[in-house]
Parts: sequence; C-alpha cells; structure tokens
Amino acid sequence: MIHRIEPVCQTPLWQQSLANAFSDVDAFIEFLHLDKAILPAARTAAELFGLRVPREFAELIRKGDPSDPLLRQVLPIGAENLPAPGFVRDPVGDLDQSIIPGVLSKYQGRLLLIANGSCAVNCRYCFRRHYPYQEATAYRQRWQEALDHIHQAEKIDEIILSGGDPLTLGDGKLTELVSQLETIPHLKRLRIHTRLPVVIPSRLTPELTRLLTGGRLQPVLVLHINHAREISPELSSGLIPLKQAGVTLLNQSVLLKGVNDSTATLSALSLALFDAGILPYYLHLLDRVAGAAHFEVGIGHARQLQEELRAYLPGYLMPRMVREEAGAPAKQPVF
Ligand SMILES: *Cc1c(COP(=O)(O)O)cnc(C)c1O
Ligand code: SF4
Repeated sequence: MIHRIEPVCQTPLWQQSLANAFSDVDAFIEFLHLDKAILPAARTAAELFGLRVPREFAELIRKGDPSDPLLRQVLPIGAENLPAPGFVRDPVGDLDQSIIPGVLSKYQGRLLLIANGSCAVNCRYCFRRHYPYQEATAYRQRWQEALDHIHQAEKIDEIILSGGDPLTLGDGKLTELVSQLETIPHLKRLRIHTRLPVVIPSRLTPELTRLLTGGRLQPVLVLHINHAREISPELSSGLIPLKQAGVTLLNQSVLLKGVNDSTATLSALSLALFDAGILPYYLHLLDRVAGAAHFEVGIGHARQLQEELRAYLPGYLMPRMVREEAGAPAKQPVF
C-alpha cells in the first residue's frame, strides 16, 4: 500500500479559511438549501457590498431557514437597495474625524487605528459598508505617520486596533506593529476589536496569545458576537489560552431586528458569553447606515428590552446599551 504524503502546508489554517470564504451568492444559497427565488435580489445587493462568509460560520447557520438569525447578518437581500430616509453613508461622522488616514481620535485617552481595512465576514448592517477602506488603512499606508502622531500625543494611553478587522493581518505583521507600539512610553493598554475568531476560530493561534501577552501593554480583546449560536465549541476552546494568559475578554453586539431583538435571545447571549469567559460590554443601537434600515429596532422597544433584561440578568452580565453620536465625547447611553 502506498501512503500519500501530505505536503507541509505553510499557510496557516485560518488564512486558508479566509481565502476560501463564500463570496458567490449562488454557491452560498445552494450550500444552505435556500429557495432560489431570492437569488436575483441577493445578487443585486451583493453588487454594492459583496457577500463574504467563511465556511466555519456558514456551518453554524441552520439549513433551509431563511429567517435564521445568523443568516440574516450575512445574506444580501433586496431590502438593502430600498432608500430609507435618515440612513446615510457615513452615519457616525468618522470621515470628518480622521486626522491622519486610518487614525480616529474621537475620545480622550484612546486612539483608534484602522490596522487593516478588510474583514473576514461582510456583515450587512455594518456602518463601514461604504467606508473608503483603501485610503484609510493605517498599516498599509503611512503607518509611520500614525506612530509619530501617537508618540507626540502623550495623553493617549490606550491604542485600539480596529478595522475592518485587525486580525486579518498575519501574526508576523501584528507582532511588528505591537512591538512598535510598545516603544511608546505613555501607552498602557492595547485593545483589539475583532469579529474574526467568531467566524474563523482557528485564528486564535498560540502566536496570537504570545504577541498579546508577551509584552508590556495590558491586552483587551473585544469580540463581536450578536447571538449565542455564534459561540461555537471551537471558539470557546480557542479562547481558553487567552483567558488563562490574562487577556481581558469583552463582547460588543449590535441590536438587530430579526437577529437578537428579544429578551430571551439577549439573555441567552449574555449567559453564553460568560460560559465562554467573555463579559458583555456594549449593546449598540444600529448606526443608521444606508442599506441597513431593515435591521433597525425602534428606541421604545430597545428601552423595553433593556428593562426586561435587567430583571433577568446579574448586573455584571448586563451589556451597556449605547448609541454612537457624531461629535459626542463618548458612546451615548440609551436610557
Ligand atoms: C468606540 C470608539 C472608541 C472606544 O470607545 P470605548 O467607549 O472606550 O469603548 C474609541 N475611538 C473611537 C473612534 C471609537 O469609535
Ligand atoms: S467591521 Fe465588523 S461589523 Fe463591519 S463587516 Fe467587518 S466584521 Fe462585520
């Protein structure tokens, strides 16, 4: 018997998953056994903002269920093309706030870097769906300019790597970036905002744990999970080494109609997060971005959910319900 010898693969598993993500609407709809009647609208919506779903996430979606809460977050639909008053291209005024391409300085003490423009998944409700990533990526262009700025801005003690998704950068690039940040004496904390491990859990590599915990900066990882079913066994087990190494794990969600707009769903999410060692941080109201109006939960219902949730959950599992207001000094609480 001849044994086949597998070639040694240099590309990390997660990068292969990234490259093999669904981007073709037809193949995605077929994989999920959905009605082909939705194809034309899906294709049209995907022309404006492409479909992108890694296989690991697609496998968490219930087959044949067009109203699955995970599916709704990623499937392009006709409603995206309907004009909706008040829903605009740059709802949070990010473009005006950018002092240097890829650097956002809206709040005291914290500076946000768009470390990389791309994402592993295209979330249909994303406020950055019209964001000019190409021009705004700090890492690719003028990274040095961003670093010089941070060096001079002595009041900044926390750097937030965001995107896009900063974990689309390889561990080598990230290590380079983090070690440059470490040399800036007034920095104390390094925060990474990411959805990548949720859609490709193998992104949680031992190198990532090392680069987050091996240095001087206190690491905070803020995940983006909207529904308890997004917390796969692979994600939970992948987070254990980070947790054990002392990384603070937080989660932010977006309140989305048809995804998580019920007390039962939101409390199940908080409890599942805690099981995975993650604390709920923010529950954002939807940013009113063009193409996402069908996800909006009215303010009255949002307040009601908040009250009901408070009665169900221990205080430490209550996410802070907030909204983004252009020009405000912080995320604004919803009372
Ligand atoms: C949301 C955000 C932050 C972080 O705000 P926190 O309330 O500290 O989580 C920082 N900078 C920008 C530009 C932001 O949008
Ligand atoms: S920035 Fe976050 S919410 Fe937006 S598409 Fe990327 S992963 Fe999704």
